[in-house]
Amino acid sequence: MNAKTLDLKVYISEEKIKQTVERIGKELTTKFKGKKVVAVCVLKGSFLFFSDLIRQIDTDITCEFFGVSSYHGGTSSSGEVKVTLDLASPVEGQHVILVEDIVDTGLTMNYLRKAIESRSPASLTTVTLLEKPDALKVPCQLDYVGFKITNEFVVGYGLDYEGFYRNLPYIAQVQNLQ
Ligand code: 5GP
Repeated sequence: MNAKTLDLKVYISEEKIKQTVERIGKELTTKFKGKKVVAVCVLKGSFLFFSDLIRQIDTDITCEFFGVSSYHGGTSSSGEVKVTLDLASPVEGQHVILVEDIVDTGLTMNYLRKAIESRSPASLTTVTLLEKPDALKVPCQLDYVGFKITNEFVVGYGLDYEGFYRNLPYIAQVQNLQ
């Protein structure tokens, strides 16, 4: 299968992403310095943001991976969250940093928050690179947000369209969908 050729416009440059990742990393370092934390990467979309972010957090970190899918390949959320990979270790009594790529309707983040809270962590801090405030359908507590963006479909830096475009080093808006 070939990737559908999308007409892309750079929306958030590599340089801006780097600066924002550094800023959030510094803030998390200030919050957690001297403590042990578990950073949870929400797969698949946040793997690039996660790997850049954890390198900016200067404290003892272990990494966990939580696989969920809600889009099923298209461009609008199904509203249904399916777990594709559960955490490999318990997070009870630990400081958890949950790292998402994008919050759209908020349903996935809400689901993840409940799923982690039910495992009794010492604390839960939520981080998302992108937030679409106009698309929010449920109240969603986000502790750190990289960029607030308009309600349009974006790809790149981990975010896909039908599985492709995750390897773009920047975030792009798609001009020619439908
Ligand atoms: P929510 O549950 O907040 O509606 O959706 C969250 C998930 O939908 C994200 O983790 C991401 O996988 C996907 N998503 C939401 N908006 C976009 C977008 O603009 N582009 C891409 N590629 N995925 C999105």
